Amino acid sequence: MVRYVSTRGAAPVLSFDDVLLAGLARDGGLYVPDAWPTLGAHRLRGLAGRPYEDLATAVIAPFVAGGVAADALPRLVATAYASFAHRAVAPLVQVDATTWLMELFHGPTLAFKDVAMQLLAQLFDHVLAARGERVTIVGATSGDTGSAAIEAIKGRERADVFILYPHGRVSDVQRRQMTTVDVGNVHAIAIDGTFDDCQDLVKAMFADAPFRDAVGLSAVNSINWARVLAQTVYYVAAGLALGAPDRRVRFVVPSGNFGNVYAGYGARAMGLPVDRFVVASNANDILPRFFATGAMETRTVVPTLSPSMDIQISSNAERLLFDLMGRDGAGLAGWMTRFRAEGRNALTPAQTEAARALFAAARADDAETARVIAKTHAETGMVVDPHTAVGLSAAAQLPGDPAVPTVVLATAHPAKFPDAVERAIGRRPALPDRMGDLFERRERVTRLPNDLATVEAFVRGNARAVVSGAAA
Ligand SMILES: *Cc1c(COP(=O)(O)O)cnc(C)c1O
Repeated sequence: MVRYVSTRGAAPVLSFDDVLLAGLARDGGLYVPDAWPTLGAHRLRGLAGRPYEDLATAVIAPFVAGGVAADALPRLVATAYASFAHRAVAPLVQVDATTWLMELFHGPTLAFKDVAMQLLAQLFDHVLAARGERVTIVGATSGDTGSAAIEAIKGRERADVFILYPHGRVSDVQRRQMTTVDVGNVHAIAIDGTFDDCQDLVKAMFADAPFRDAVGLSAVNSINWARVLAQTVYYVAAGLALGAPDRRVRFVVPSGNFGNVYAGYGARAMGLPVDRFVVASNANDILPRFFATGAMETRTVVPTLSPSMDIQISSNAERLLFDLMGRDGAGLAGWMTRFRAEGRNALTPAQTEAARALFAAARADDAETARVIAKTHAETGMVVDPHTAVGLSAAAQLPGDPAVPTVVLATAHPAKFPDAVERAIGRRPALPDRMGDLFERRERVTRLPNDLATVEAFVRGNARAVVSGAAA
């Protein structure tokens, strides 16, 4: 049975059910499996050609073994992916002789976050029902995570969701995906402030222990272990479709928080033969600088055409650092403390070399992103979103062994970022039919000041999980 340990070595070891609901570990670390279960070559061959749901069940089962979700897993997976508009869930589309796009945007909110969030919601409901508990999910979003969380949690019996986004600073599509879901357990909150203000409010709510306990606070942000786990599945799917375990694959991943590419790292740890991971960033290039030099250094976030990657602290990189440091939790805790205090810290040369053996990285600025959207359209007729274009640019900048297929992860549907796409190709991408009425739906949103007491009062007043007597 897989147990979960904190990257900082000082938090309790947890089972899957507990790690699902815990989010961040109590010592400030992130949970990882104590050992990765493996899928040998024989087992991988046996999974080739199976439907995505079967593959997901096979990959995830060892991680949830011993927990309450184990027996129900096939049903939870089937329900989660029934909401996808493509039966393959994560179909591959060939771009040129050696490059494929893996389309991860066929879920209800048009970005890859749905792949993990839809399953996470099923797992939450199941585990909470077994325990007779409720939770209050609070999150901050710059766009995609919030809409995916709202869409996944809406109407669920055991959870209420409160999503804080910066008023006036998300795209119209992103905002409407959050504000037009007219269901009682969903609360979109427009904060008069920036994304960082929203994130600080969420952190402050988690740090307020009486409040946290009174409302049963929980998180579904990208450090949640179950999200990483759900994302490992499509790497295995792509690998199998392109010849694994008998052929290696190279993955190019548009990255921000490092959650998606870390899931690929996990698929490799399970036995998928991977040639290399190429981390693709926009002008917010902390990750390319890190893989080039071994030094992690934050700079000011600049807004770009690919806003879901406008990040200067890649939280999930801590999970990779843990392995690079030989799983020395105390050592990593010290390293992270210094990084947070000084905004900079570096790996040793040997650790840097180990990272570079598996990861490469490249960046694309806005001009390059627009150029790649236009070029891809001119050469193939395909319309790609700005995040995917950053990935295609990185793939072209770092050409690999032509005998190794390259899979670029298409992380969002072009209609989610129509302005950038229209500027590049002169045509506005249409929303898929299933959400064609998004702009006619009525919006419901609560606008609140950037003030902790006001936001906490709103959450207490609307969360069903409030413990009576503790609410005052
Ligand atoms: C969240 C997101 C990313 C970045 O993924 P990480 O897991 O944070 O690295 C890339 N593209 C899109 C469209 C996203 O929504």
